[in-house]
Amino acid sequence: MVIVMQKNASDTDIEHVVAVLSERGFDVHRSTGSDQTVLGVVGDVASVDPREFEVLSGVQEAVRVSEPYKLSSRSFRRSKTIVKARGIEIGGSDVVIMAGPCTIENERQLFETAKRVARAGARILRGGAYKPRTSPYAFQGMGIEGLKLLRAAGDENNMATISEVMEIGQIESMLEYVDILQVGARNMQNYNLLSALGQIRKPILLKRGMSATIQEWLLASEYILSGGNYDVILCERGIRTFETYTRNTLDISAIPVINKLSHLPIIADPSHAVGRRDKVMPLARAIVAAGADGVLIEVHHEPEKAVCDGPQSLYPDQFARLMDELRIIVPAVGRTL
Ligand code: PEP
Ligand code: MN
Repeated sequence: MVIVMQKNASDTDIEHVVAVLSERGFDVHRSTGSDQTVLGVVGDVASVDPREFEVLSGVQEAVRVSEPYKLSSRSFRRSKTIVKARGIEIGGSDVVIMAGPCTIENERQLFETAKRVARAGARILRGGAYKPRTSPYAFQGMGIEGLKLLRAAGDENNMATISEVMEIGQIESMLEYVDILQVGARNMQNYNLLSALGQIRKPILLKRGMSATIQEWLLASEYILSGGNYDVILCERGIRTFETYTRNTLDISAIPVINKLSHLPIIADPSHAVGRRDKVMPLARAIVAAGADGVLIEVHHEPEKAVCDGPQSLYPDQFARLMDELRIIVPAVGRTL
């Protein structure tokens, strides 16, 4: 249920409604817009009559949210959420480009790639230090030493940083080095991890699980939001279908669908979606044209030598060319880059 307060509702009115709800055992989440407060009520609301709340002073309306996801829904917050990472706004008018290698391999690789993507216009540096590899025999990531390199390369190029967190025990040590914590496709349903990320105050990028419906994905985001961390960015990264030519199938329709159902920023990752370098650029163009708030792209200064995901990593020159193309598309869809 959401309770929409009147535009002129006083703080006392709002506090009173919150107190009544808390007394009845509900969790209350506030969304304060520019001129109106909306209260998201979470708990077993099935037995309450919303009209009981409409008679309270300062309440405009109380409505049941029919979707199972609540805090991520547009009914709870009508205006788009803007997530800020190191001063960069994701979900505002800018389309934000995040780029870098799949995994941090060594200092030279990361610094060289960072310099090239920064020069081309990327604002957030990606690089995995903890890697969820399909094979246990494959490189598993540099861990904390990799995160230190990521921070240093980000600082040198005036970029924010993003890296994947795989388990609760890694969260604390990552906070110092990373501006956005990424939850990978394989962990979208790791509900203990999601709940723990709800307790911190750092942006989270939540990738869509490879077999997850949009509803399951939004419900996963709810685990983070309901802990009080409202800085969640969603990332479409391709889903498993019967098609085998590409690594996954980019669900481009998820972008306008999420924009309708949710206020959370939505970006997409063409690299993991398609798995082939020659198809990353057209998909990135489509992602921006479809209304995404950003793109997450793998770039490597020498992709043929990459330890991980080389075939889908762009050469720095290709990335620079893609940025030039995006500079043409972005204004056509009413955004800035
Ligand atoms: C990644 O971005 O490095 C990654 C592992 O992606 P995904 O979780 O989408 O497979
Ligand atoms: Mn990868």
